[in-house]
Amino acid sequence: MFVSQVSFPDNITYKHCVVIQLHVCVCLQWEEVSIMDEKNIPIRTYQVCNVLEPNQNNWLRTDWIPRSGAQRVYVEVKFTLRDCNSLPGVTGTCKETFNLYYHESNEDRESYIKESSFIKVDTVAADESFTQVDVGDRIMKLNTEVRDVKVMMRKGFYLAFQDVGACIALVSVRVFFKTCPLTIRNLATFPDTVTGADTSSLVEVRGSCVNQSEEREEPKMYCGADGEWLVPIGGCLCNPGYQEKGGTCKACSVGFYKAKSSDAGCSKCPPHSHSLRDGATVCDCHSGFFRADSDPPSMACTQPPSGPQQLISVVNETSVVLEWAPPRRLGGRSDTSYSLECLICQTGSHSQTGSKALLCLPCGSDVLFSPDQTGLKSTRVVVSELRAHTHYTFIVHARNGVSQASGAGAAQSVSVTVTTNQAAPSPVSSILVTDVTRHSLSLSWQQPDRPNGVILEYEVKFYEKDQKERSYRIMRTFSRSVDVTALNPLTVYVFHVRARTAAGYGEFSSPFEFATNSDPFPLIGEGVNSAFLLLSVSGVGILLLISAAVFIISRRRSKYSKTKQDSEEEKHLNPGVKIYVDPFTYEDPDQAIHEFAKEIDVSSIHIERVIGMGEFGDVCSGRLRVQGKREIYVAIKSLKAGYSDKQRRDFLSEASIMGQFDHPNIIRLEGVVTRCKPLMIITEYMENGSLDAFLRKHDGQFTVIQLVGMLRGIASGMKYLSDMSYVHRDLAARNILVNSNLVCKVSDFGLSRVLEDDPEVAYTTRIPIRWTAPEAITYRKFTSASDVWSYGIVMWEVVSYGERPYWDMNNQDVIKAIEEGYRLPAPMDCPVVLHQLMLDCWERERAERPTFSQILNMLDKLIRNPGTLRRTGGDRPTATLLESELGSEVCVSVLPEVCVPVSSVCEWLRSIGLERYGDTLAAAGYTSLDSLLALTHQ
Ligand code: AMP
Repeated sequence: MFVSQVSFPDNITYKHCVVIQLHVCVCLQWEEVSIMDEKNIPIRTYQVCNVLEPNQNNWLRTDWIPRSGAQRVYVEVKFTLRDCNSLPGVTGTCKETFNLYYHESNEDRESYIKESSFIKVDTVAADESFTQVDVGDRIMKLNTEVRDVKVMMRKGFYLAFQDVGACIALVSVRVFFKTCPLTIRNLATFPDTVTGADTSSLVEVRGSCVNQSEEREEPKMYCGADGEWLVPIGGCLCNPGYQEKGGTCKACSVGFYKAKSSDAGCSKCPPHSHSLRDGATVCDCHSGFFRADSDPPSMACTQPPSGPQQLISVVNETSVVLEWAPPRRLGGRSDTSYSLECLICQTGSHSQTGSKALLCLPCGSDVLFSPDQTGLKSTRVVVSELRAHTHYTFIVHARNGVSQASGAGAAQSVSVTVTTNQAAPSPVSSILVTDVTRHSLSLSWQQPDRPNGVILEYEVKFYEKDQKERSYRIMRTFSRSVDVTALNPLTVYVFHVRARTAAGYGEFSSPFEFATNSDPFPLIGEGVNSAFLLLSVSGVGILLLISAAVFIISRRRSKYSKTKQDSEEEKHLNPGVKIYVDPFTYEDPDQAIHEFAKEIDVSSIHIERVIGMGEFGDVCSGRLRVQGKREIYVAIKSLKAGYSDKQRRDFLSEASIMGQFDHPNIIRLEGVVTRCKPLMIITEYMENGSLDAFLRKHDGQFTVIQLVGMLRGIASGMKYLSDMSYVHRDLAARNILVNSNLVCKVSDFGLSRVLEDDPEVAYTTRIPIRWTAPEAITYRKFTSASDVWSYGIVMWEVVSYGERPYWDMNNQDVIKAIEEGYRLPAPMDCPVVLHQLMLDCWERERAERPTFSQILNMLDKLIRNPGTLRRTGGDRPTATLLESELGSEVCVSVLPEVCVPVSSVCEWLRSIGLERYGDTLAAAGYTSLDSLLALTHQ
């Protein structure tokens, strides 16, 4: 028998375990005994050792043990057990095990619990140790056995030990349950957690974020049955201004910041910023430095840029190219952008002080900026669609992301004031067809959106669509409409219209297509006889001519109007007529010159002497020997050194114009020298120089017929030019050259370009007022009809042997006098018919003036009938003369050819230049002059 004592210490701490305290033991048969342990420390034990008697049933029960939330409790029993073999005489009754029971109960003071209420946990045997008693010495072997039991039903439980005949000493009983201890994982705190009821069960636990942190993802862990935390999920991040340190979030120290909830640490404040307190989420900028809303806190604080530098403007007509250099200081940023302010300025007087100042208003929305007006990254902008001859101020602002924050956006700018030049008109935007017939199309259009000056005329270019632009025709008109006739029926035509101002031609409009139809006549009125219409339309005036020739002698002053239309039509509708091309329409002036003028090798020119002074330099005479041709005399105009690009262009443009003409009464261009300097224009040599000087030199030395011959030559040259749609604008005796055979040739094709230079100034000062038609002076309507006016003046100059028109009247008086109806009187000994022709040329209404074709016809008649030149202003008409005067006036005005004997319809038509209507008349049955005479209006 041995004695042992069961002791139940108050607090024994196990890792991850909570020990449930055991109190007093309730026992029967079991004895409480104090013994010494191995180290001779006294301990209390409960012992039983009834091994000699059979059927033992000794119970030892604990006090009520509170469950304390545990679901599974562990019972650790330390005991000693005697080996039955070591006890003599106990065979059959001695046992080496005991049983462990439990009973759940809410009642903490149950005095009596039936044995059957206990549930057996296990039979506990000593694993290997049996306590032996050696001679003289006691060897105590302590067994430790742990059993676990699920206790979930009640608040607590009782444990009981059943002895069935063993020799046992219970040294200690420890009851505990396991927990997963409080822990911090991923910045989340997980509380002390009791493990689950089953050995395999996991308890899901939600963590809570530590101070100054926020959930990144719900923090979760599982508490295993063993009290180990498993599978951490999610977690928390330190708040802005805090960083993780040892599982907690600590504030960033001064000079550091943290902007976001992140697992990153605090960062040092970026350049030009600071933080003065712990826990900064952003660093404040130093004074004078700024941060844009979009700037990240990690970015250095920056400054607005300084102003753009070196703003350069280049004006090109109504466009301005602005270029500048980036600001000297970009403020530490790379987002500098530019915006343009456009102001349209006028000089005005200050209302109070009266002093002159530039008054500026914002430009309209029609101004175009390329690539843009604001948000520019590049340092170049093309501003277009500006008004011509207008002052503009452009302010270029430089901005960056902090300009607004700094409140200094407007300060960083640079400005420039420019004045736009003249510009060609913008293209006509649309063409409408107002009438269509088999052979004609009536078109109209609106003025271009941006005329950029007074429109002088429109040019209509058209061609059959199938022909493309291989062969086209051109018409010019002053109005915004035109009747295009002599077209092919049922044919599609393509039309382009462009406008011309003093600045030159604008771009052609885009193509507009219109088709003629199959209607033979325009719908002039109902019930009109179609045959009559045919004659009326196809040969406007034929019937009038016939009627007048046979029945009446007309004295109408508007005698040229109808026939002028004919002639215009004739000019434009003759597909064979070559059309003058304005060299200023070529972008590259060299292209025009090489298209229209021959390059001459300078070695083939031999200069002899200076014969005059031209606008661009000396005019010399000399000889030209081109290989394979005989040597000829030439005049050589050269461009003096130090010329500008524009002067070069203007100088060569005269050759480009002249080179397009080929007529005995137009000065002939031999070629140009452009490949070496000086640049030269070589023309045929005119021995007698300019006509005005020549006549003055030979005052009164020529017969009227000779003078008329000279005038005829000039008229012929001018007809040729007007047929080519070239308007000379400066027709005057000084610009006519005379050769040794008294042949007069039109020269000087430079005035149009002079006008283009500066319409405002040149127009009034350089325009040859005395030679110019009133509508050209007032409205700049330069046309072949205004050239006819000038021709009338030339006639007067010729007949008066180089007298100055209007003598010494000043220009203003001349303009006023013409306006009031005054016309130059007939020079001395001037045939009446010639003065009448002059007066016709000076008709106020330009449509009433004769055409060059008519003038030419008239002069031809006069030359063929010199008698008509006999009567001068000084003669008194007799009755017979009156007859002939009437006759001659008819010749001049309406029926020039009727006075000339003709023998057939064809001959007659040819003599009046309308031979193309021969077939039409023949088809209508008019084959003889007699039949024509029988033709009536009906
Ligand atoms: P322009 O530059 O055409 O006005 O010429 C100036 C002067 O040179 C004229 O007034 C003429 O006297 C003279 N001149 C020009 N071209 C010729 C020429 N082809 N033949 C003779 N003299 C000319």
